[in-house]
Amino acid sequence: MTGPILILGGTAEARALAGQLDAQGIRVISSLAGRVSAPRLPAGEVRIGGFGGPGALAGWLAGYGIGAVVDATHPFAQRISASAVRASADANVPLLRLERPGWEAGPEDRWHWVADLPQAAGRLAELDPARVLLTTGRQGLDAFAADDARWFLIRCVDPPAPPLPAAHEVILDRGPYTLQGEMSLIDAHRIDALVTKDSGGPLTQAKLAAARLRGLPVIIVRRPPRPPVASVPTVAQAAAWVLGHTSG
Ligand code: NAP
Repeated sequence: MTGPILILGGTAEARALAGQLDAQGIRVISSLAGRVSAPRLPAGEVRIGGFGGPGALAGWLAGYGIGAVVDATHPFAQRISASAVRASADANVPLLRLERPGWEAGPEDRWHWVADLPQAAGRLAELDPARVLLTTGRQGLDAFAADDARWFLIRCVDPPAPPLPAAHEVILDRGPYTLQGEMSLIDAHRIDALVTKDSGGPLTQAKLAAARLRGLPVIIVRRPPRPPVASVPTVAQAAAWVLGHTSG
């Protein structure tokens, strides 16, 4: 039997994987960055906080005798994934990436793909809506801070840090969201554009259906590039990979 499995988490998939492996008697240590004030905790052991870079993570993997690593962090969490690639190679520990598929536009969607939040702010200025639902998380909102031409409804899990746009309201919420709830939010606040990241997954997808039904433009930030690493899209496939590395 190999050592414990490290799951780099902060996503619903990471929690689901920890739950499945823990239920099968596999020792799992989930790692969270510690960004959210009251995180949903997975089954099994949990550690919280950064490792201190790839070198320190490699040392941590060796120190805990980790048998395999699953990087199940969010598609937009770049640094920890790069760190996992380097550290697992240095410590000679197998690594799998668990990443949910991105969203795809249908024929009735009015999506505008951009590379990052500054580009999203630029495209917003071109489209010039008056009232924007901004659901890109609380990091990087300074990209919109100088935009005095519109009102922003900023939805995130924990309060965002300034600078923020002058005209805004913050809603603290973490989903999952329903189509009916998203339609009500759009209607109540007279939203006429949505800005989101391509996070993927069903838990936060309802806003895209609501935007389609209301005919709203959606500015959607493309996922950042990632280092090449073995990757699966589902929790079941990740669990099967882990089982393959723990038997024998
Ligand atoms: P990031 O830019 O890749 O990470 C920055 C630093 O935070 C990393 O270098 C690492 O510090 C630490 N870190 C990140 N994830 C960690 C983890 N799971 N366990 C231990 N340390 C971790 O990540 P981020 O975009 O700030 O996201 C932070 C966390 O929030 C991730 O775990 C991610 O799954 C979750 N999340 C992110 C988003 C998003 O849109 N970015 C959305 C939902 C959830 P050291 O270098 O010191 O090890």
